[in-house]
Amino acid sequence: MKFRPQKPSILDESAETLSETLKSEKIPGFRAKQIQEWVYKKGELSFDAMSNLPGTMREALSGKYAANPVEPVLWKRSGDDTHKLLSKLEDGSYIETVLIQAPMVGVGQEKSRATVCVSSQVGCAYGCKFCASGLAGFKRNLTRGEILGQFFRIGERQAELGEVAAVREDHVPFDNIVFMGMGEPLANFDAVAGAIESLHSDWGFRFGARRITVSTSGLVPEIRKLADIGIPIRLAVSLHGATDEVRSKIMPVNRRYPIKELLEAVQYFREKHNRMVTLEFILIEDINDSLDQATALAGIAKSLHAHVNCIPYNTVDGLQWKRPNMRRQEKFARVLKEAGVSVTLRREKGHDISAACGQLRLKQETVS
Ligand code: SAH
Ligand code: SF4
Repeated sequence: MKFRPQKPSILDESAETLSETLKSEKIPGFRAKQIQEWVYKKGELSFDAMSNLPGTMREALSGKYAANPVEPVLWKRSGDDTHKLLSKLEDGSYIETVLIQAPMVGVGQEKSRATVCVSSQVGCAYGCKFCASGLAGFKRNLTRGEILGQFFRIGERQAELGEVAAVREDHVPFDNIVFMGMGEPLANFDAVAGAIESLHSDWGFRFGARRITVSTSGLVPEIRKLADIGIPIRLAVSLHGATDEVRSKIMPVNRRYPIKELLEAVQYFREKHNRMVTLEFILIEDINDSLDQATALAGIAKSLHAHVNCIPYNTVDGLQWKRPNMRRQEKFARVLKEAGVSVTLRREKGHDISAACGQLRLKQETVS
């Protein structure tokens, strides 16, 4: 069932829909631009603070729209550079958002790069056998406003940490956005594409398309649809198995969209955007970490000119899977490298973007 909040958020609106809504309220169109400037350029979601709007209009808009629909409940810091946020939504659902701050030592200058990992659904219906988000099943899609609301909360946290003023004047204090939190973003296509529009548009955050990555477990029709939205974002595909036999064992979605069909859709996306696609490959002991899998994966990556990101599996409470030892991980990556594939093997703890995403929520929902 589609979730309808009691009041929509201003973040649910595009430039177009906001103008239409204002028109129906007999508010002149130019006010839409002013409101969007407050929201996306100044990070201000409270109508009361929008000082260039007349008082009666501010009152009417406060009655019509809710502010940020994402309510922070708990921040958890792991290591130095990963901050996980558990939030509550209007219907009592919980979601997670992660901020990863990776120090980058440049030439004579130290910089920090911030990546935000957002959720797109409450739970996930795709049931991958290794994933915490799939464990509790699917509850509902997030609205566009609930996806965008997560960025405002992260921005607030950045300001609290004192990172914003130190690094940038802008109120968008992060460098990369990844749709790798809870949920399958392409199963909530309209809200995700809408949020991307608000992130990227001139009237919105003006966030660079190349710095936005959508990760999918491989929904073939939606990968093609995403290629056609006209915003050249990056695509990451959760492959995790280089043959149908192995992939179907751990990812039920493979039975619906087997590898051959998936690769054709990825090729379509790649040609459309002329950009390297990333294949994600979690290494799980005795499941997909054989050298035969590495060889098959190398073949796929070469045919697509794709980059491969090998991610040592993060253990999830309640699941039996394990990460292979370091030697085995390195051997796997070496096969790819020697075949001429561009490959990274993730090492640093704080970099586990998924950071077994879904676990905080799982704990919260089983306690409450
Ligand atoms: N549904 C999308 C995006 C969310 S999952 C997708 O499947 O791509 C983001 C990434 O985290 C995916 O590559 C997913 O396979 C990975 N992931 C899930 N559980 C994990 C775990 N326990 N350890 C490491 N990566 C995991
Ligand atoms: Fe869903 Fe992605 Fe987890 Fe699979 S890996 S269950 S698609 S969130």
